[in-house]
Amino acid sequence: MTTFGDREIWESWGAQELCFQGCRACHALQHPPGRLCSSCHGSEFDGVAVSGKAALLAWSVVHRAPSPDFADQVPYTVGVVELAEGPLVEVRLLAGKPGSEKVGWKCGIAVEVTLGYVNGRSVPVARPLQVTTISTGTDTELL
Ligand SMILES: [Zn+2]
Repeated sequence: MTTFGDREIWESWGAQELCFQGCRACHALQHPPGRLCSSCHGSEFDGVAVSGKAALLAWSVVHRAPSPDFADQVPYTVGVVELAEGPLVEVRLLAGKPGSEKVGWKCGIAVEVTLGYVNGRSVPVARPLQVTTISTGTDTELL
């Protein structure tokens, strides 16, 4: 029986709580949520708050809006981060001060994951812990 699943995660994010599905049996966190624990096949879960500490694993700039809802947001940067607690999460990448800085996104940099609003929905977003690079080239993005 899934006790903290997809619906509960969206509800926690809506309440500004950065929670993920944690297995009651082995305490592993997983994302996206599933009916069974990918580590031990347990079927009962709790919502577990995470620290927000993460490393950037991959990123990309979206130039073409995937739907009309995103048309006024392009270009924007998305990424996959690995939370300190384990799960990989897709995030919107934001500069430290939105709209004011260039960030040199590089795989492996430390980021802080919080919740932010995209199209009126609370979703994970990430900001670099340090803004140290202003450069030109393929690994730099103005946000
Ligand atoms: Zn488990």
